[in-house]
Amino acid sequence: MKLYPLFAHLSRRAVLVVGGGTVAERKVAALLAAQAQVTVNAYTLTPQLQRWVDEGRIAHRGDPFQDGWLDRVWLVVAATSDRETNRLVATLAELRRIFVNVVDDAELSSFHVPAVIDRAPLTVAISSGGDAPMLARLLRERLETLLDHSLGPLAALAARLRKRIRIRHPEPAARRRFYETLFTGPVAALLRQGQPQAARQAAEKALASATAEPGGSVVLVGAGPGDPGLLTLRALRALNEADVILHDRLVSAEVLELARRDAERIEVGKQAGNHHTTQDGIHALLLEHARAGRRVVRLKGGDPFVFGRGGEELEFLRDHGIPYEVVPGITAAVACAAYAGVPLTHRDHAQSVRFVTAHCRASYDTLDWAALAQERQTLAVYMGVGELGTLQERLLGHGRAASTPFALVENGSRADQRVVTGTLAELAERGAAHAVRSPALLILGEVAALASSLAWFGQPPLRDAPQRAVRPAPPRPVVAVPAAQDGLLAAIHRA
Ligand code: SAH
Repeated sequence: MKLYPLFAHLSRRAVLVVGGGTVAERKVAALLAAQAQVTVNAYTLTPQLQRWVDEGRIAHRGDPFQDGWLDRVWLVVAATSDRETNRLVATLAELRRIFVNVVDDAELSSFHVPAVIDRAPLTVAISSGGDAPMLARLLRERLETLLDHSLGPLAALAARLRKRIRIRHPEPAARRRFYETLFTGPVAALLRQGQPQAARQAAEKALASATAEPGGSVVLVGAGPGDPGLLTLRALRALNEADVILHDRLVSAEVLELARRDAERIEVGKQAGNHHTTQDGIHALLLEHARAGRRVVRLKGGDPFVFGRGGEELEFLRDHGIPYEVVPGITAAVACAAYAGVPLTHRDHAQSVRFVTAHCRASYDTLDWAALAQERQTLAVYMGVGELGTLQERLLGHGRAASTPFALVENGSRADQRVVTGTLAELAERGAAHAVRSPALLILGEVAALASSLAWFGQPPLRDAPQRAVRPAPPRPVVAVPAAQDGLLAAIHRA
């Protein structure tokens, strides 16, 4: 190890910063956060440094640097743009055995300032020993996304209870188990949910109870449309902490790859038609794993509350007393619109947008077609690829213009995204000609015309019929069939 890491108590200790530019300002900000008594030595100051001087938060010396000042300080930072001045300050500090940091000069520095992730009282500091500061910064950014801001209050709560935990659990192994539960269980969840009072009460209760058994919980997480870059930071953290992940078929492999390596992954894909039995099965699995004390992530495509039955799952968890959290995801309509260059609303074209689903003919009868056919609005239709003909017929029947543009987005946001465009009059025909398959989202409305000029992701939109001829329909059998089998054959043909 090239450097010896340490964290310094600077509260009410004098620190000298030589230099008054933006770099010095950054250093002063960090020193002020640690409550150091800062004196800045510079002829001119940045406006922010000047404000701190005016507010009495730092002292200012505008006269030339004098080495006698060093006798009063614990640390020195040399942050001028002049290397010689920096060197002089460093040499004089060295002579007095005062630690000095020279900005961007590892050689002249006797201490380095690490890249920091601040979750006070928790601090993560990263150093590359001056060799690769950009790498340290990059690492900091990565870790920053992984560490929830509730970690600070969690550490503070643990500090407050520390003595009592030690008395309650004198045996180290039991104490470790208690802390593990405190940091990963319901207390941590309550802090994430912005309920510090309830978190304190839960911690007190855990401290009073005889055992330190972890309580299971469920996080309902939206995985977005497929591109892992569209996951939220919260979703990523939940995936990192999961013991078990129950995921839909729609969740992309790239997203699943981001989950904790040793988390158990269970696919609970639902096929159209057997929703009810499988939904019960999902409920049973949620219950089984949560009751076994595991942290369960229920991972759903898009957003869990948009055509995702997330509501039903939460009702079930509530009825069974299992604690839960919800992490929203980017829903298919929002993602497909963005990745196809179709703004869902636009001042010139559409003032509203409707998220609609209609996955079977029966559900079509419950929709308000007159409202859906109105102009200057956008329809985002989920699970509609199988019924494009019905959709087209109903909308035209209720007066939507045949020339209304559409964009049909297949595998939105994924590497194999395809966008088929056209007008309402040719919707079913175009969908069939390009053999559009699920998952696909239909965006219908004036805004869809913008796809041709605003598209930016993947292949450009497919406007014309495909080049290759579509596979011809198999010839009808010429054999005569008894009347009773006629219906059966017709059914086979339809299938
Ligand atoms: N909860 C999900 C929707 C589930 S319903 C969400 O918020 O997105 C499933 C339907 O969503 C699919 O039939 C399709 O219409 C749409 N869908 C989901 N992911 C998609 C994707 N990557 N591209 C296009 N459509 C998608």
